[in-house]
Amino acid sequence: MIYFSPRGIFIMDAGRIVIRIKTPLGDMDSSVDCPSLLNFSDLLGAIRDVMPEATVTAFEYEDEVGDRITVRSDEELKAMLSYYCATMNEERLNGQLPEPLQIFPRAGKTPGIRNIHGLKINAHDIQYQEQLGQGNGGTVYKAYHLLGKRVLAVKVIPLDITVELQKQIMSELEILYKCDSPYIITFFSAFFVENRISICTEFMDGGSLDVYKRIPEHVLGRIAVAVVKGLTYLWSLKILHRDVKPSNMLVNTRGQVKLCDFGVSTQLVNSIAKTYVGTNAYMAPERISGEQYGIHADVWSVGISFMELALGMFPYPQIQKNQGSLMPLQLLQCIVDEDPPVLPAGQFSEMFVHFITQCMRRQPKERPAPNNLMGHSFIVQYNDGNAEVVSMWVCRCLEARRNTAGSRA
Ligand code: ATP
Ligand code: MG
Repeated sequence: MIYFSPRGIFIMDAGRIVIRIKTPLGDMDSSVDCPSLLNFSDLLGAIRDVMPEATVTAFEYEDEVGDRITVRSDEELKAMLSYYCATMNEERLNGQLPEPLQIFPRAGKTPGIRNIHGLKINAHDIQYQEQLGQGNGGTVYKAYHLLGKRVLAVKVIPLDITVELQKQIMSELEILYKCDSPYIITFFSAFFVENRISICTEFMDGGSLDVYKRIPEHVLGRIAVAVVKGLTYLWSLKILHRDVKPSNMLVNTRGQVKLCDFGVSTQLVNSIAKTYVGTNAYMAPERISGEQYGIHADVWSVGISFMELALGMFPYPQIQKNQGSLMPLQLLQCIVDEDPPVLPAGQFSEMFVHFITQCMRRQPKERPAPNNLMGHSFIVQYNDGNAEVVSMWVCRCLEARRNTAGSRA
């Protein structure tokens, strides 16, 4: 139950929190007696009660560096509450009276050509920081957007193409403005400066999964749920990802998992392919042999990626991926010719082994369709909204990496 009170003095006991709804007409405080029982639709209902004229579909809160985080589901609400309760306990320990939890309602708009996150980015407002990584197409930097006061990841890709092609790429990228899912990286903006395109997205502080070694099954299960949900969302928009692989699965310390680098712009993919020759080792056999492909090819890539993440090595031992995932076509012929590898049963649950085996069936049609993927017992088992498992694991791995870097220095 949520009780409203005009903004003013409030008292909180151990289990109780105060949520401050920031509305255009002023603040409205609501006291929540038992935050663990609060669910997303209750809170949305409470917001709609105080803002009846707006169609509120989500809300945001600010993290410790002032970044706005969107809440659209029970899972994200849980993450917000656990973040807030941790901050509140710290403030109490320091003898401070905790600030209420401030939330900023977000009114729904009809999809169209707009930035759903309200962030306008110009090249000169970006301060580049360190390089986060380099792929086959371009280089990714951590950057700070001065006007939006937000940390970004900016992918810079050199492209020697005509202005006409540049325009075509920009128009193909427009669909990204409409993508709005907690399992897909948030796209803010893209622009050309001379012969380079910069693509600005949300920054994920845990980076990509390719640098994590042998992820335990209970963590991998939660990651797989997010990946399957992200793909299901893209497929519902008639977008094939086309580049599912561990380096395109990003994680953060809040336990979120998001997909990036899906091929919405054919022209961009083609222009990059002209410079970088090779075939992607995560591609389904039908793609390697140049046949027609569809959703099932993304499903194969899910299978081979999760098999690699579970084993800590690429599942075809004869394929050595030294740097990047592009290889000469002949080296990948074994993926077309041989029976797909199978996870060793003794080390992994039967459900997980079955999930991978089904995703990696040689015949595309025999792989699970979207509904069957979501309904697979491995996914169902871990679809519990427990972001803490991933969050704690990411934090532990980052800590271990810092310690190793420290002891080397
Ligand atoms: P490829 O070019 O074959 O797709 P890749 O995915 O490794 O390979 P990039 O997409 O250029 O290459 O990304 C390089 C690295 O930058 C990634 O591996 C990841 O570690 C990091 N990175 C990319 N996007 C983000 C992001 N939004 N937040 C944090 N790190 C990121
Ligand atoms: Mg990538």
